[in-house]
Amino acid sequence: MNQVKKQKKEMPLAFKIFIALVMAIACGMIFHNQAGFLEEYVRPFGDIFLNLIKFIVGPIVLFSIMAGVVSMRDIKKVGAIGGSTVLYYLCTTAFATAIGLGMAIISAPLFQQLSTKGVKYKAAKATPFMDTVVNIFPSNFLAPLLDGNMLQVIVMALILGFAIIMVGEKAAPAIKAIDIINEVSMKAMEMILKLSPIGVFCLLTPVVAREGAKIIGSLATVLLVAYVAYILHTVIVYSVSVGTLGKTSPVKFFKEMLPAILFAFSSASSVGTLPLNLECTSKLGVKKEVSSFVLPLGATINMDGTAIYQGVCVVFIASCYGIHLTPSQLITIVITATLASIGTAGVPGAGMVMLAMVLQSVGLPLDGIALVAGIDRIFDMGRTTVNITGDASCCVVVSNILKKKLETWGSEVEDETLEMEEC
Ligand code: ASP
Repeated sequence: MNQVKKQKKEMPLAFKIFIALVMAIACGMIFHNQAGFLEEYVRPFGDIFLNLIKFIVGPIVLFSIMAGVVSMRDIKKVGAIGGSTVLYYLCTTAFATAIGLGMAIISAPLFQQLSTKGVKYKAAKATPFMDTVVNIFPSNFLAPLLDGNMLQVIVMALILGFAIIMVGEKAAPAIKAIDIINEVSMKAMEMILKLSPIGVFCLLTPVVAREGAKIIGSLATVLLVAYVAYILHTVIVYSVSVGTLGKTSPVKFFKEMLPAILFAFSSASSVGTLPLNLECTSKLGVKKEVSSFVLPLGATINMDGTAIYQGVCVVFIASCYGIHLTPSQLITIVITATLASIGTAGVPGAGMVMLAMVLQSVGLPLDGIALVAGIDRIFDMGRTTVNITGDASCCVVVSNILKKKLETWGSEVEDETLEMEEC
């Protein structure tokens, strides 16, 4: 009882982070002539927070992607549904990253450049395209984790995950172990995220002291750009796919999806929205066999909104530090953000941790996270809404594409039931 009372009283993390942002802006403005002092004595506490994020991102990516892959072990059984679902998810997510990046690149002149003093950044050498491709594949089991090479960690996770599925029955303990370690990593992430108000305050105060009010305008702009990209992706990509491949009117689709959309927007959790999403898609005529496979898988591996957010934030952070992104870095961002969506958990704030991974993959300063962390919840509400709408659109599309097959399976099941009853 007491515990319940305590839980009720606790302020939501997002609110604490927002307060930290407001306090950082206020303190930064007040102590604007103490920037040097703040840089030397306050910022290091922010660096501790960034170190912890760097520490946890490797295990999170490795184990959550492996857990996502092994959770598809029924893929052979559901055969056609699995294939079309994964293909749809990967294509729409790659599209989402491109829209996010494109929108941000167009809007880049609106993002104000900040001073790079105190920021650790090694200017990336322009890597030839083929080297970028070759470098995706690890040549060593530990090096990807030690070097924080996230693309290689993802490839490692995919190879090991599929190998576990192929081993079959014997690998059951490994699947269980991965699920447990994944849960432990998530718990650790949750603990580290609890420190974000302190991290945000300590990283942002010196920046505001140095840059003044410039930063507020920049944050409003990047939010606007992300929301325009969310809306464009949702309206264009999902309307077209639902209308053409799903043979369902987009107006009807969005109308039926409204309860799930509103819930996702306010909860910022795809996993939490799952029950409502199942209900909305069933009202759209999607059969249980499809939705019960496509939606949970989507809540685990399909995050179009998160991919858009990452595209927008990476360009924003690069612009803030006056860093020019090379074409090979842009390609790396599209690949990493698409794959990062597989590793993003459907819980509030997970996408922000994954942003660290995308920044790391192209060598951008992780400090940039502090710039956007204070308003992460506002980004998160929009990206979660896009995430779950994408999952539902996949349901409608797969359900229509496999309509005939589903009917055949349905009648086969009926025949089997009749036979059993006769026996
Ligand atoms: N909150 C998002 C979701 O649940 C994940 C993210 O943080 O991007 O879908």
